[in-house]
Amino acid sequence: MKIGFIGLGNMGAPMAHNLIKAGHDVTGFDTAATPEGITMAASAAEAAMGADVVILMLPNGEIVQKVADAIIDGMLKGSVLLDCSTIDVASARAVAALARSHGLGAVDAPVSGGIGGAQAGTLTFMAGGATDDFARVKPLFDVMGARAVHCGPSGNGQAAKICNNMILGATMIATCESIALADKLGLGRQEMFDVVSTSSGQSWSMNTYCPAPGIGPTSPADNDYRPGFAAELMLKDLRLAMEAAEQVDADTPMGARAAELYAQFVENEDGAGLDFSAMLPRFETRRRG
Ligand code: NAD
Repeated sequence: MKIGFIGLGNMGAPMAHNLIKAGHDVTGFDTAATPEGITMAASAAEAAMGADVVILMLPNGEIVQKVADAIIDGMLKGSVLLDCSTIDVASARAVAALARSHGLGAVDAPVSGGIGGAQAGTLTFMAGGATDDFARVKPLFDVMGARAVHCGPSGNGQAAKICNNMILGATMIATCESIALADKLGLGRQEMFDVVSTSSGQSWSMNTYCPAPGIGPTSPADNDYRPGFAAELMLKDLRLAMEAAEQVDADTPMGARAAELYAQFVENEDGAGLDFSAMLPRFETRRRG
């Protein structure tokens, strides 16, 4: 397929490389990054022109809307706009409506799996859009990922992503504060892991991504909490979840508390640049609030 790929940062560049390796013809554009091995265009519109599928992997909804506005007129009729960025549900639905009004297909498909998953081609895609559009981009999901779930109409991919990450943020905090409590009660971390990871307190945060160094499978905790999944990206996703909850009048008290704690951690407590599991050293010192 002929593919335009806009946004070639930490995630986009390895995803584009996997598409090239699989034989697709990729033209990229990025306002700052100049990744090796990818043919670059001079503008987003030029990268999108004539492509069967245009993939976006950009920082936020505002930028996605701006780029969509810039490329939409030049896109091939019948081609598909595939947005893999994590953005707010409302922007995702607005971009999809714009694409459809121009005779284009639209799929929102945020990913889970991080930079490692993007490099290895093992991402999970959670997709929103018409069944036909999903089917047309499915071969690309199969190259860039290990799994793609069609979650329903436009915006539902973003909905799945923020609901998943709201659970992740809350369980990581619960796991970290429980380990810090166990420390103070004199319980060994290995014993804590051995019990919880096989009992009803288990979760991905404890079992697969244990926030305690030297315990459980290798995780960013074993690498001085270098990300992995940065605390500021978790904060971004929790804020998107809170924004969506407000819009649909959903009650999300645990998500709200997780968003507050990650905001405090990133903005006031030197958490920026650390993995989101660095909440554990943060809880080792008791702080009020
Ligand atoms: P990044 O900052 O490394 O990459 C974003 C790229 O977009 C940058 O290279 C930037 O120069 C480019 N860009 C910004 N504005 C642009 C514009 N107007 N036109 C063209 N290019 C533009 O971010 P990332 O880590 O690659 O994340 C991309 C998306 O994937 C985000 O929405 C993020 O939330 C999501 N995501 C990231 C991870 C992760 O672990 N990094 C995991 C899952 C999802």
